[in-house]
Amino acid sequence: MVVRMRHTRAHTANRRSHHALKAQTLGTCECGAVRVSHRACASCGRYRGRVIVDVVAKAAKKSKKAAAKNAGSKSEAGK
Ligand SMILES: [Zn+2]
Repeated sequence: MVVRMRHTRAHTANRRSHHALKAQTLGTCECGAVRVSHRACASCGRYRGRVIVDVVAKAAKKSKKAAAKNAGSKSEAGK
């Protein structure tokens, strides 16, 4: 519906009655970690019993990136 004119507080409240946020549906992974439903596990990278995400490689990549970023900021601070 197009919002064209001023409308009453009741009208606004009725529209906003559908704006509430829902809690995430959490489940437990087979590794024992709490996991968001329909998402791969953040701690083991499994989804429906299969390894989807290589968690070790991802962590290594992340730490390498962080190290590179720190080195870059250090050299800039030295200037
Ligand atoms: Zn898991």
